[in-house]
Amino acid sequence: TTNISNEYDALEVIGKGSFGTVRKVRLKASGQILVRKEIEYTSMNVQERNQLISELRILRELDHTNIVKYYRHDHIMEKKSIHIYMEYCDGGDLAQIITNFKKNKEQVPEEFIWQVLVQILLALHRCHYGIDAKKVNLFSNTNNSEPSINSETVIIHRDIKPDNIFMSNSGKTVKLGDFGLAKMLTSQNDFAKTYVGTPYYMSPEVLMDNPYSPVCDIWSLGCVLFELCTLQPPFQAKTHLQLQTKIKRGIFPEIPDSYSSQLRSIIRECITVEPESRPSCFDLLETLSVRFLRKETE
Ligand code: ADP
Ligand code: MG
Repeated sequence: TTNISNEYDALEVIGKGSFGTVRKVRLKASGQILVRKEIEYTSMNVQERNQLISELRILRELDHTNIVKYYRHDHIMEKKSIHIYMEYCDGGDLAQIITNFKKNKEQVPEEFIWQVLVQILLALHRCHYGIDAKKVNLFSNTNNSEPSINSETVIIHRDIKPDNIFMSNSGKTVKLGDFGLAKMLTSQNDFAKTYVGTPYYMSPEVLMDNPYSPVCDIWSLGCVLFELCTLQPPFQAKTHLQLQTKIKRGIFPEIPDSYSSQLRSIIRECITVEPESRPSCFDLLETLSVRFLRKETE
């Protein structure tokens, strides 16, 4: 691609990502505000570069209200960097929101937590149940370890956490972002070796490097919902090993009973150690539609 940077006005930096800067930009022609991830690929090893390419490939196939929209990317040879243009989410991320509630010693309203649950389930529904396989193939591969894509191709996010859930539309819309660790289900991967950061929200099967399925995202979603209720992640420890032990055991504190029993029981179901016993995205949406239908007719 050619350098299209001059089509944009660079605005303020809004964050530092693991590989570079996240900046607001304005499209000169329309005034539209976007986010630009400026990534220097010289600081990356081959694995990390492949991860970036996989993020781009996934993002451009996903077009959904509850998924942060990817617009384009731009390779700037002389800076050895890649600029990714994405939808700007004006409400920041859930990690920031949780920090604010903690600071003000306030509880997150239950209705907000239901909004996060429903809207992230809609995003996951899009990821877990089908993507047009032919389109995915269009992206050029950098190596031959890419999955063979078939009509049942599924995207698993694998890194759902408060930092990767964004708020937009003045707090009305919840969006799943940061598909850096997402991979096609069929991909052979070296996830365990490349993960950086504390895996507070990681499912036991992913943590133990066992085969995993889309329900690993449901576990993580459950952990995020738990944190919204209590302002603490369900599993905490001083060392990585202690954390691993706690996650494998799957025992976590009670959720305050100021939250409804329905919400508490959904969260408990999501944080089920055995992936086979954990509800799927579809199961949960079904449960919720029953709940909302009942509400309507009450
Ligand atoms: P990394 O995961 O590599 O650390 P992130 O993509 O999470 O980097 O970005 C770092 C910072 O930029 C975070 O504070 C995040 O809230 C902010 N940010 C990232 N993408 C967006 C976006 N689309 N809209 C608004 N803020 C964003
Ligand atoms: Mg992030």
